[in-house]
Amino acid sequence: MKKIIYLLSLAALLWSCNNKPALDENDNVLCTCPPLTIWLTPFDDFSDAETQLVQKDLLVYFKSTQNLNEAIEIAQRRKLTPDLMNDTKTRYRADKIVKYLQKDADEHNIYIGLTHKDISLPYKQHADWGVQGLSLIPGDACVVSSFRVKNRKQLWKTVLHEYIHTRYDYSHCPNDDPKCIMEDANGKPNFTNKWDLCEYCKSQTLAKDKVTL
Ligand SMILES: [Zn+2]
Ligand SMILES: [Zn+2]
Repeated sequence: MKKIIYLLSLAALLWSCNNKPALDENDNVLCTCPPLTIWLTPFDDFSDAETQLVQKDLLVYFKSTQNLNEAIEIAQRRKLTPDLMNDTKTRYRADKIVKYLQKDADEHNIYIGLTHKDISLPYKQHADWGVQGLSLIPGDACVVSSFRVKNRKQLWKTVLHEYIHTRYDYSHCPNDDPKCIMEDANGKPNFTNKWDLCEYCKSQTLAKDKVTL
């Protein structure tokens, strides 16, 4: 029975990996899955320099948490089209943008849309609630808008918040820790005094992919 379980695990491991090299009996079985790529996807006038700043800030953060398997790339610029707007054609719908990006995304390729436009969605009694960002769980894509972010240099924190939702299907900080980037904004996000996840949120997310050197 033990052998069957081992074989099933090995089969699952091999099944989940693409482009695996042939194994011989002396090889150690190492997972050759492609690393995760985060595709920062600027829309319209979200500039190259602004996208590169988000990329740099995320890289610095991931290095500090030893999450070194994530490649952060800049995808080709895209256009927000009228079909991604709300019914009154006044704002772009965050959920429509995420679903649009999901078409190219998978578990190894996470797409994060970046826009200066105001984005919204129906929320509680509001038909059109403006948000800084949105993830749909489960899913491999999310979107972030700078429109409601006062200090653009801190935009990476909103991006990281949405990325954690998307990558780990993780909800909000159960401790409501005001210093935790995963604290529930309750409609009023403020990342000014947040620089990291709390230890609990980190243990449930990033720590799982930490590389020990
Ligand atoms: Zn937390
Ligand atoms: Zn959130």
